[in-house]
Amino acid sequence: MSRLLAAARVRALTARRRGSTVRCPLCEHAFDRFKDEWNRPNALCWRCGSHERHRAQWLLLDQHRPELLEGTRALLHFSPEWCLRDRLGSLSHLRYVTTDLDPAQDVELRLDVTATGLPDGAFDAVICSHVLEHVPDDAAAMGELRRVTAPGGWCLVMVPLALDRATTYEDASITAPEDRRREFLQHDHVRLYAPDIAERLRAARFAVEVVDMAAELGPGGAARHGLLASDLIFLCRPA
Ligand SMILES: [Zn+2]
Repeated sequence: MSRLLAAARVRALTARRRGSTVRCPLCEHAFDRFKDEWNRPNALCWRCGSHERHRAQWLLLDQHRPELLEGTRALLHFSPEWCLRDRLGSLSHLRYVTTDLDPAQDVELRLDVTATGLPDGAFDAVICSHVLEHVPDDAAAMGELRRVTAPGGWCLVMVPLALDRATTYEDASITAPEDRRREFLQHDHVRLYAPDIAERLRAARFAVEVVDMAAELGPGGAARHGLLASDLIFLCRPA
């Protein structure tokens, strides 16, 4: 489908779903409900495609802790999603740099999160969301995130989380895609994190603040923005 046709289709969908029950803070449109994802209802923005976790990140950065972005001069974004990329890339005060290891992705830098080759403290902000669950050596990745985050800066980490688990589940012998899907939720995930990922990040010499946007906004606010309790944000600062 051409880009023009795709855009027209999104506009038509957006108009049909217009309402006042839920609101996407990224594209600032309101709808009767969000679009269902294959495994859960009321998940995706009809207009910009944001998921629950993207809306939680943007609510944190744009509204709840505006000082985070205000104090940022250079931000490195791993595996950037379009909805966030649009908003972050339009901030004129910061140098916004996108990176992905996947050659199919249209990004500025082709970096391996376990060995970026960047100078120490190259960025005063880093976003690494839904990346670490794909990385076999996550200690190396966390160490690298810590190294490239400048002193006084921050690194926002999110991963798919199993809130009902006390400890992260990993088993290097599980390698077949269908086994990984069953055990770790997706064919290319190498582990299933529990909230104890915070301990791994602390071991990488980050001070970690766990931000629960759904709890911060309360039941009404969480429902309004379509947030999930499992979308905890690990806001890490070089310790
Ligand atoms: Zn949206």
